[in-house]
Amino acid sequence: MRILHLEDNSDDSELIRITLSLAGIDADIRLVASRQDYVAGLHDFTPDIILADYNLPGFSGLEGLEIRNEQAPDIPLIFVTGSLGDDLAVTTLRLGATDFVLKDRMARLPDAIQRARQESEQRLERRRLDVELAAEREVMRATLDSAQAAIVVLDGLGTIVSANPRAASMVGATPASLPGWAFWEVFPSPSNAGNAREQVRLALEWPHLPARDSWTMTTVGGRVVTWTSGTITSPGRAERVVLSGIDITEQRQAEHRVHYLGHFDQTTGLPNRQHFLQNLEERCGKRNIGTPSVLAVMLIALQRLEEITDSDGEEAIDRICQAMTERLKESQEQEPLLARVSENGFALATELVRGCDLDDFAQHIIEALSAPVAVGGRQQVVPVRSGVALLPDDAADPRQLMRAAEAALHYAETSAERSYSFYTPLLSDQARERLQLESELRAALIAENQLALHYQPQVNLDTGRIEGLEALIRWQHPQLGWLPPGRFIPLAEVCGLMNELGAWVLQEACRQLVQWDHAEIAAPTVAINLSASQFTSPSLFVDIDQTLARFGIAPERLELELTESTSMRDPQASVAIMAQFRERGLKIAIDDFGTGYSNLSYLKRFPVNRLKLDQAFVRDIVSDADDQAISRAIIAMAHQLRLEVIAEGVETAEQRDFLKAAGCDIAQGFLLSRPIPAAECALLLGQPLSLI
Ligand code: C2E
Ligand code: CA
Ligand code: CA
Repeated sequence: MRILHLEDNSDDSELIRITLSLAGIDADIRLVASRQDYVAGLHDFTPDIILADYNLPGFSGLEGLEIRNEQAPDIPLIFVTGSLGDDLAVTTLRLGATDFVLKDRMARLPDAIQRARQESEQRLERRRLDVELAAEREVMRATLDSAQAAIVVLDGLGTIVSANPRAASMVGATPASLPGWAFWEVFPSPSNAGNAREQVRLALEWPHLPARDSWTMTTVGGRVVTWTSGTITSPGRAERVVLSGIDITEQRQAEHRVHYLGHFDQTTGLPNRQHFLQNLEERCGKRNIGTPSVLAVMLIALQRLEEITDSDGEEAIDRICQAMTERLKESQEQEPLLARVSENGFALATELVRGCDLDDFAQHIIEALSAPVAVGGRQQVVPVRSGVALLPDDAADPRQLMRAAEAALHYAETSAERSYSFYTPLLSDQARERLQLESELRAALIAENQLALHYQPQVNLDTGRIEGLEALIRWQHPQLGWLPPGRFIPLAEVCGLMNELGAWVLQEACRQLVQWDHAEIAAPTVAINLSASQFTSPSLFVDIDQTLARFGIAPERLELELTESTSMRDPQASVAIMAQFRERGLKIAIDDFGTGYSNLSYLKRFPVNRLKLDQAFVRDIVSDADDQAISRAIIAMAHQLRLEVIAEGVETAEQRDFLKAAGCDIAQGFLLSRPIPAAECALLLGQPLSLI
């Protein structure tokens, strides 16, 4: 222990050393008598304790105390002095002396020193703790201040003790203004006012539960906050309830939005199909048996929207659907159930007086919808088709009712005569048939021998030689026999089987080419028909690449036939897809040319090899002057673009001769050959004969 001893009497100093040593205290003592030595000792000796005499020549213990107070306040100072009056003793203690020991009571010194040391250590420790605590409190405060959660501390009665800024800002107050208020006065929950009070009571009654169920309430300004409560009990202190609240307003809004998007159409604000069905079920549930009215469901499909999208864009469709919504609403005296059930479809459900004129009802709506709509500065007539079914006449429940209306709509869409149709049981037979055929087609894709390709030769009009084969699919149905593609291709398109069917055709054509190669039969290019959905399928190129690679077939040996209308649907996209075909070396022909509304500027940009003049022009080409003119024009134009022309559906020698005279390059048709099975085709290819 280092002791700085302020004393002019060296005997006294010696006495102290002995006293301490006897008490077992090993002390390093520096004796100083002047102010200068004393100050130096404070700094370079850094004593653990100071012992000071009161009276010194030219210096005093009191001054020494003052210097210590200023320069080393943590070092205990004990006066060791001959005498010290009571007044002075009190003064020195008040000024900060740690203790005093009279020289004639020197035995007390060791104890006094030990105690002073302990006290000083404790003081230091306490100061360290204070600093730590202050720092921690600062961190806590910063945490609470910056917390995204609202934090409110309550006493056992629910009165706010403190609140963080987030909590205060929720109610537009400052943290300092909240203490003293009852929690539920500041954060009212309008729906159930007792809620907050009840939760606080529970938190106090079951303090051992750290956090309890959260509860939600609305605060000022419509914010939705969910609160969780916990209780703090610390010995000797009153209980506190800590509430933390999270503002979930945005989350709630998002939930509502999701609900809205899941149940309503954004463009028209009408319920969607799902929601319509729910509404319909509710409505049906409320109907009494024996109600004197019938519930009519009318499904309405707007026609030709694709064309309008092509010419006027998506906004035009939105505009049209909004106008139709208004008209549907206005068409009924009583408010009907309305919905937008698909991109181009609406549903309307309403009660009709039994025995009323149903045609009147349907016609009235169709007429209302058929008035032109202003789109892009023009008046556009949008044709509509509709199907109606009645409950309880046509169906027993809402879902059946919808299905019946769908069958009626489908009939109206496919029949040429009327724009609306009422459900008859016959219609559902047709629907059932279609379903049946769909599942059979799925089975056919897996079965080994139900599907086949027939090949129709394409013959050069100059040489009579076969220059190509068009692959045409056939289905040997187990019960119905051979079915032409017209019976099942459109079905495959609607039920999503077209890509699979297309993949099968591609594989089968490649497989056939390999087989002919092995048999050393020189096969010409094989043309394959691509449907609209195949053409835009993202997997098209992968399918083609993989299949060609698998069979080792050079791409030049295949020609892809795309109808004019498919390629004109999105001409720009078509150009890009066709370019990818060409990059691979595949050939391209435009099928059914002349029937679509071709845009010649695009035709120039389509990187195709051939045009196939549609059968419609060939049929009457010998007698119809118009068809002759169109065919000649198409052939001339194609040749200018360096495209070959194939005439389809050539059935007579007259047709062939006319076409040949008009400069047509190739002919395909029953005159030359019907589509024939591969084996028969091999025979044809084996003989170098001219077909003309
Ligand atoms: P398409 O591509 O226009 O095929 C030509 C159709 O005309 C074939 O009917 C063919 O048998 C028929 N035809 C050929 N020569 C004559 C003739 O001289 N006179 C008459 N009246 N008709 C003739 P098919 O085989 O019934 O095919 C009908 C349609 O089905 C095809 O029209 C094509 O669009 C589609 N199709 C056929 N096979 C496939 C296929 O594998 N994939 C795709 N996506 N569609 C196919
Ligand atoms: Ca074709
Ligand atoms: Ca064709």
